[in-house]
Amino acid sequence: MRSKLKTLFSLQETDLRLKELENLRGDLPQQVEKTKQEMIDTGNRLQTTKQELKDAELEQKQLQTDIKQANAKQEKYKNQLYRVSTNREYDALTAEIEAVKENTDKFELRILKLDDIQEELQTKIQSLEEEKTKFTANHYALDKELQGKLNRSNREEDNLRLHRKELVGRLDRQMYSTYERVRKGKNGIAVVAIQRNACGGCFNAIPPQRLLEIREKEKFITCEFCGRILIWNEKENKK
Ligand SMILES: [Zn+2]
Repeated sequence: MRSKLKTLFSLQETDLRLKELENLRGDLPQQVEKTKQEMIDTGNRLQTTKQELKDAELEQKQLQTDIKQANAKQEKYKNQLYRVSTNREYDALTAEIEAVKENTDKFELRILKLDDIQEELQTKIQSLEEEKTKFTANHYALDKELQGKLNRSNREEDNLRLHRKELVGRLDRQMYSTYERVRKGKNGIAVVAIQRNACGGCFNAIPPQRLLEIREKEKFITCEFCGRILIWNEKENKK
């Protein structure tokens, strides 16, 4: 029992150090993930906007071709006007010319509208490019910081985990499950030393008979008030 209590205490120290290393990284891993997502999202939006601009340019080119064709048609109809022999033919041709003109007007309006659209899209692209550059720089800076921290703590963490496994192997299943359960509820502190004849966790006084048992280190004793595992710490209890 003596050595098992000691093992429990070492286990707690190992777990506390692991927790400390985890805290050292803080929310950096989440931040790295978040900035990565921002970078990807902006990249996607940039691509979509660039495609929209391409589409607008294509549509405009197509309209310019359409106008050229319409103008040619109109020219042809106008020439035919001189050669008509009946009023009916004349009216029909004039109507055609009018229809073509109406279409050309529509095309021209759309071309002007597309100028505005392209201008807006170009502004949007520019600000998205800036955003993307900013997010990318941000992401890589945070990632570099995280990698630095990981490199420093990874080796220690690996060793601690190995050590932890070994310690857990030396404990009874029931002891270990008590430790794990209490640790989760008590902010990582499941094993406490007696301090001035009281539990070092909740500071409730321990009856003399139990104190004796704890001191003899022959039993696995938990505090009846807070549930923590009680140990006799030579250093703390010398006085
Ligand atoms: Zn207690």
